[in-house]
Amino acid sequence: METEKSLISIIIPILNEEQNIPLIYKGILGAWKNLESKYDYEIIFVNDGSEDKSGEMIKNLSKSNARVKYIEFSRNFGKEVAVSAGLHHSKGGAAIIIDADLQHPPGLIPEFIKKWENGFEAVIGVRKESGKDSIVRNLGAYLFYKIMNSIGETKIVPYSTDYRLLDRKVVIEFNKFTEKNRIIRGLIAWLGFKRGYIYFNAGKRTYGKARYSCYGLAKLAVSSFVSHSLFPLKLAGYFGTFLTLVFGVLGFLVFVNKYIVGDPWGLSVSNNTIFAIIILFSVGIILASLGLMALYIANIHSEVVDRPMYVIRSKKL
Ligand code: UDP
Ligand code: MG
Repeated sequence: METEKSLISIIIPILNEEQNIPLIYKGILGAWKNLESKYDYEIIFVNDGSEDKSGEMIKNLSKSNARVKYIEFSRNFGKEVAVSAGLHHSKGGAAIIIDADLQHPPGLIPEFIKKWENGFEAVIGVRKESGKDSIVRNLGAYLFYKIMNSIGETKIVPYSTDYRLLDRKVVIEFNKFTEKNRIIRGLIAWLGFKRGYIYFNAGKRTYGKARYSCYGLAKLAVSSFVSHSLFPLKLAGYFGTFLTLVFGVLGFLVFVNKYIVGDPWGLSVSNNTIFAIIILFSVGIILASLGLMALYIANIHSEVVDRPMYVIRSKKL
C-alpha cells in the first residue's frame, strides 16, 4: 500500500442514502475545486447493507470516476464498523470521515485540511450546541458526556462528531484495534495525538430519516453491551432494578408515614413488613449489580469469540 502525501481519502458510510449520494458527491467535488492543485482525492463509499438503490448508484459513480471506490458489506454491520472498514482500506496521507446526509457540511473540508497542514494530527468537527434536537436527545447527550468523562479513562469533548480528519499516522494506529464493539470517537480519544477542533452547525438531515432512534443512541452509548447470550443475567438485572425502585419508593412512603406525618390513617405498618421491604430493596440492589456484571461479561464474550468484524460482498479499491 503506497502512501502519497498528496492523496486524501474521504470515507462515507452509507445506509439507504440514495437521495443524498448525488448531493454529498457534488458537495465534495465542489469543495475540491480549491484543493485540486495540491491534493488528489479518493472517495471510499462503504455500503453498509443498503436496501435501496444506494449500492447501484455508488457502483455507477465509481465507473464514471476512477477516484470513487467502494466497499459493499454483505449486510448491515453498523456505522462504526463501516467507517472502520473505510479506514482499513484508505491510502491517503489523511482520511476524512463524513456522513452522507449532509449534516456534516462538505464545504468545511478545506478548513479541516488547513488545520492538518498546520500540524494537527486529528481534526475533529464539534457541533455547536443547537436547540434543534429534542429535549430527550439533548439531555441524553449531556448525560452521556457527563458520565463518559467521569467514569471513562479517556476524555471526549462534548458534542464532538464523527466528522473528522485523521492523519495517516493516526489511521495506522487505529487500524491496529481489534475490538468489534467500538465507538470510533472513544478509540480516537484513547489514541491521543495532537488534536484540533472545527466548530460547525449541524443542519437537519436533507433526505431520509436518521437511523439512530433515542433507543439506538442509548444502545450506542453502552455499545459494549451487546451479546444476547447473557440474557438471563440481564433479566436478573432488570428484575433487580424493578425491585429496588418499587421497594425503595415503598420504604420511603412507609418511613414518611410512620415517622414524619405520624401515621394519620392508622396503618400501623408492622415491623415485619418494614423488615421485608428493607430485604427486598437490598435484594434488588444485588440483582441489579448482577445484571450490570452481565454486561461486562457479554463484552468479554463477544471479544473472545473473535468473529471477523465485517464481511465484504464486493469491493473496488
Ligand atoms: N450509517 C451506516 N450504517 C448504519 C447507520 C448509519 O453506514 O447502520 C450511515 C448513514 O448512511 C450516514 C451516517 O452513517 O451516512 C450517519 O447516520 P445517521 O444520519 O442516521 O446518524 P446521526 O446523524 O443520527 O448520527
Ligand atoms: Mg445524520
